[in-house]
Amino acid sequence: MAKVAFIGLGVMGYPMAGHLKTRGGHELTVYNRTAAKAEKWASEFGGTAAPTPKEAADGADFVFCCVGNDDDLRQVTLGEDGAFQAMKAGAVFIDNTTASAEIARELAAEADARGFAFLDAPVSGGQAGAENGQLTVMVGGSADTFKRAKPVIDCFAKMVGHMGEAGAGQLTKMVNQICIAGLVQGLSEAVNFAQKADLDVEKVIGVISKGAAQSWQMENRWETMRDGTFDFGFAVDWMRKDLSICLAEANRNGAQLPVTALVDQFYADVQAMGGSRWDTSSLIARLDRK
Ligand code: NAP
Repeated sequence: MAKVAFIGLGVMGYPMAGHLKTRGGHELTVYNRTAAKAEKWASEFGGTAAPTPKEAADGADFVFCCVGNDDDLRQVTLGEDGAFQAMKAGAVFIDNTTASAEIARELAAEADARGFAFLDAPVSGGQAGAENGQLTVMVGGSADTFKRAKPVIDCFAKMVGHMGEAGAGQLTKMVNQICIAGLVQGLSEAVNFAQKADLDVEKVIGVISKGAAQSWQMENRWETMRDGTFDFGFAVDWMRKDLSICLAEANRNGAQLPVTALVDQFYADVQAMGGSRWDTSSLIARLDRK
């Protein structure tokens, strides 16, 4: 049992912190910007709510964090009341936010200078994966730190991979999002085409999902895409944040992402349709917009 802190009890962080307590049996201190959520978590799971990230991190062996973007992450780590001001020597800060590789490297260097370790550890699997404790976690950082932290991360994950040095976790998450962007657009066009061709979409998917076109998105999203319901987790606003990180990184490393760039613009269309909070499969709605 370790002393664990968790910063950011959003859609993802709330259940992830819960698994650290219920499955891991760890002693938890949580922080959330909107304090009522931290109080609710503490009364539901049994733990302590701290008023600042700094106080949450004080004395902890492992500090997890799952906030929105680079700026939020900078605030809860390096800010005046940030966790980095109180991390004890030898502790590990594990960031589950989807952020840039640059900030991961910056925070890893900062942690090193202050005598503790940093892992960038973005997740995939969505709200359902967080609630079921079945996330995929892509980790960047030193092999030794990874080895120490893995049994704790395992509490909310079905797959935890060490991808390389600082930033490699975020880079792997970018690869994941590049895959999803093109795939969801392809699936949107396919389902829309099947509808226009007066095919029975259920029958079509029942057959082709057993062949080479199969994917997680197909298995899990075809029905809601056909029915035009888009409230199943990962929001378009978040996806655009992630794709902007991918496109900026590609600018630096010279990779070509023509389809990803196009799909990013398609998501901008969905935002303009009022779909900022719709899930990522809402690309199909754009095909029938007036
Ligand atoms: P969310 O529900 O919006 O939660 C964000 C959390 O971060 C909230 O606890 C929020 O506090 C806190 N926060 C944001 N900015 C902050 C700041 N400047 N200072 C302090 N706290 C701050 O988001 P989420 O869906 O859990 O996603 C969190 C991260 O995981 C994002 O990077 C997202 O891209 C990634 N992710 C999400 C999913 C998904 O399906 N949702 C899947 C994979 C990865 P308040 O409660 O006060 O707002």
